Amino acid sequence: MADKILVTRSSMPPLEEYIDEIRDIWDTHRLTNMGPKHKALQKKLQEYLGVEQVDLLTNGHMALELSMQALQLQGEVITTPFTFASTTHAIVRNGLTPVFCDINPDDFTIDVTKIEELITDRTCAIVPVHVYGNICDIAEIDRIAEKYHLKVIYDAAHAFGERYKDRGVGNFGDVSCFSFHATKVFHTIEGGAVCFHDNAFGNSIRDLKNFGIHGPEIVEAVGANAKMNEFCAAMGLCNLRYLEAEIAKRKVVAERYRERLNHIDGIRLNPEQMDVIPNYAYFPVVFDKNVFKADRDEVFDELERHGIGARKYFYPITNDFKCFQGIYDAAETPIALDISRRILTLPLYADLALEDVDRICDIILNYAKRL
Ligand SMILES: *Cc1c(COP(=O)(O)O)cnc(C)c1O
Repeated sequence: MADKILVTRSSMPPLEEYIDEIRDIWDTHRLTNMGPKHKALQKKLQEYLGVEQVDLLTNGHMALELSMQALQLQGEVITTPFTFASTTHAIVRNGLTPVFCDINPDDFTIDVTKIEELITDRTCAIVPVHVYGNICDIAEIDRIAEKYHLKVIYDAAHAFGERYKDRGVGNFGDVSCFSFHATKVFHTIEGGAVCFHDNAFGNSIRDLKNFGIHGPEIVEAVGANAKMNEFCAAMGLCNLRYLEAEIAKRKVVAERYRERLNHIDGIRLNPEQMDVIPNYAYFPVVFDKNVFKADRDEVFDELERHGIGARKYFYPITNDFKCFQGIYDAAETPIALDISRRILTLPLYADLALEDVDRICDIILNYAKRL
């Protein structure tokens, strides 16, 4: 049997290059606490993302969690359950109440036509997700946020480097949070960032990521420890040099999938959005069992039998998690619930061979044919 294929594979710079990048850490002995690598990466990312301000953190989750704390949110936050655990957990861990809005079935982002009916006098913010790199309806979210005086924090973990209407996606809302986890298009092993406009927010994040310490003798807030260390920043500096090439390779893989699966009845592909320069982070497909004959779980199992690790991403949706049983109800977001049972994310990474893409597509298509 051919080698096992996993849903993703972290990109790595040439080892020698990473060693060169970390060599001077042995001269300076600066391992963490906003050293030169941290500063250099922050500056490079600000340019790459085309944003006003950016700050680096240990991971994308702390970017979300500390953003909510920095904005001093209280009450209810409108969000979607069709996301990674992190989005909902960041809300709950801030003592806030998530109010789940359904998604639209075409691009899986928050259904903006259903936000206003969820707003109460306790609503303080909207936390939408650019899921799979699909950009939310930014204009409508802006309009609602302005009308009801709500903060907007985008979970942009899937949207690194994307541009919408010629602007970096990190520019939208009050804050956008990125993840640089090993599995993401751009990574720092573990890492994350916030992009924002407001100076006061930036000051607050800088304190909060370092225990709330504001000066040698002043601790101003109950912060966490969420500083990106120098080794992670060094990995980011290296990976950034290869990013364009990585995305170009991902594009070739995604286009091959699209070519092979585009016109198959009962398989729906992720939409190609107008005005968006994508990053090809994921390749989700939605199965309609009535038409395709096989359902998502059967296809997942069939791939598994061939040593191919697809991912049920996102399943379960967050309001269906065991830890929220009896608290939230997935039935309130029927479209998200339905999609979560029918969607499968296929393997996609820069070095995935086109022959492997073909093999994966053949397995899926042949399986349905035999039913
Ligand atoms: C990866 C991810 C996060 C969390 O990022 P980490 O860096 O792993 O903490 C948050 N939201 C979404 C949608 C993600 O995919």
